[in-house]
Amino acid sequence: MKLFRNNNTARHLQNNAFSLYFFLNIQYDYIITGSGCAGLSLLYRILKEPALQNKHILVIDAVEKNTNDKTWCFWEKTNGLFEDIVLHRWQELIFRSATFSDTFSIEPYQYKMIRGIDFYRYVLSFAERFPNVHWVHEKVESVYSDNSNAVVITEQHTYTGKWVFNSILFNKPKGIYNLLQHFKGWFIQTEEAIFNPRQAMFMDFSVNQKNGTAFMYVLPVSPTSALVEYTLFTASVLEDAAYTEALQHYIQHTLSVNKYTIVHEEFGIIPMTDAHFPLQQGNIINIGTAGGQTKASSGYTFQFIQKQTEQIVQQMLQHTFRLQQSFSAKKFKLYDKTLLNVLSNNNMNGDAVFTALFKNNSPQAILQFLDNETSLRKDLKILQSVPTKVFLPAAMQVIWLSLWKKSSH
Ligand SMILES: Cc1cc2nc3c(=O)[nH]c(=O)nc-3n(C[C@H](O)[C@H](O)[C@H](O)COP(=O)(O)OP(=O)(O)OC[C@H]3O[C@@H](n4cnc5c(N)ncnc54)[C@H](O)[C@@H]3O)c2cc1C
Repeated sequence: MKLFRNNNTARHLQNNAFSLYFFLNIQYDYIITGSGCAGLSLLYRILKEPALQNKHILVIDAVEKNTNDKTWCFWEKTNGLFEDIVLHRWQELIFRSATFSDTFSIEPYQYKMIRGIDFYRYVLSFAERFPNVHWVHEKVESVYSDNSNAVVITEQHTYTGKWVFNSILFNKPKGIYNLLQHFKGWFIQTEEAIFNPRQAMFMDFSVNQKNGTAFMYVLPVSPTSALVEYTLFTASVLEDAAYTEALQHYIQHTLSVNKYTIVHEEFGIIPMTDAHFPLQQGNIINIGTAGGQTKASSGYTFQFIQKQTEQIVQQMLQHTFRLQQSFSAKKFKLYDKTLLNVLSNNNMNGDAVFTALFKNNSPQAILQFLDNETSLRKDLKILQSVPTKVFLPAAMQVIWLSLWKKSSH
C-alpha cells in the first residue's frame, strides 16, 4: 500500500516530522550512519520486519545515493532478499591462468550481479512508505556512545539515538598487512555479438603480472555487452593510465574486440587488511566494511553484509546485542591473514595460489570456503592444495605476530 499520493507529499510530511524530532530533541530508536550497501541493507531488513518497522529511524549520509557508483557480484544457492533487482546471473564460471584454464558449472550456486543504482532506488522507494524514517544529508564527523545512548555529531547538528549502526570508516585501517584490492572496470557495448551471457570469466590471470597479482574479469549481460574489470591485489594503486592501457589491451587482444563503446566506468579500492574492525562499541554497532565485513583475502563484502544485517535484525527482535566473533570467524581470519602474509612478502604470486586452488578443488568447495562456510575437514582439503612449504611458515608467522601484538598491548 502506498501511503502518499506522490513522493513530494511524502517528503514534505517526513521533513515536518523530522523538524519536530529535531527541535524537541527526541531520541531516535535507531540511527544509521552511512546509507550505502550496509546501511540500506539493514534499513530494508528492519522495515520488512512487522515488529520493527514502526521504530523511529534516522538515516544520515553525506550524499544522496543517486548514482551507479558500484556493481556488486556475489554467489548464493537460493533466491536472496534482493532477487528482484539482480541484473544478471551465471551458472558457469571460467578460470584462466598461464598454466591452467577450465570452465565450471557452479550449480547449485549462481553468480549474481546487482547494480548499485538499482539497489539504492529499490530500498529508497520502499522506505518512502514509512513516515517514521527520517533522512538527512550531512557529513558525520564522529559517533560516540555514552551510558545508554549513542550520539552522532555531524558538521551541522548532534543527534541522539538508543543505538547507532555505523558504516562510516572514520580512520584508514592499519594492520600488519595492508594490501589494496584496486580496480577499474568498463561496461562495454560491442557491435558484434561476441559474448556468451551464460558464462562469466571469474578470474583471468593470463594478463601481465608485472605490477603484482593482477587479473581481469568479464561479466557478459548480453551477447553485445559486458563488464570488463582489471583488478590488482597490491600495496598501492596505479596511475589511471595503467588501468586504461590494460583494459584496452585485453579487450582488443584477448577478447578480439576492436569496435566498442564504454557505457559506464567504475573505479574502486577495497582494503585487504588484517586491521581490527570493532563490531560493537557500547551502543554503536559497526556494520559493513567499517564493521569488518570485507573478506581480507578476496574483497567480497556483499554477502557478509547480508549475513551481518540479518543477525542484527534477529538481535533487535530479542532486544539484545551480542556481536562477538565466533570461533569459525576467527579461523577464517587466520586463513585470510596467511594469504595476506604470502602476498605481502611476495612469497608466491596470487596467480599461482588461485591456480592451485582451482586446479585441485571443485568450484563449489572454493565458493563455500570463500564464504567462510566450510568445515575444518573441508578446509584441510583446500589448504592441502596450496604449497605447504610456503603457507605453513606464513601461518606460523601470523600466529606468532598476533600473540606478540596481544602481549605488547
Ligand atoms: C567500486 C566497488 C565495487 C565493489 N564490488 C563488490 C562486489 O562485486 N562484490 C562484493 O562483495 N563487494 C564489492 N565491493 C566491496 C563492498 O561490497 C562495497 O564497498 C560495499 O559498498 C560496502 O558497503 P558499506 O555499506 O560498508 O560501504 P558503502 O557502501 O561505501 O557505504 C558507506 C556510506 O557512508 C557514506 N559516508 C562515508 N563517509 C561519510 C561521512 N563522513 N558522513 C556521512 N556519510 C558518509 C558514503 O557516502 C556511503 O554512502 C565493491 C566496492 C567498490 C568500491
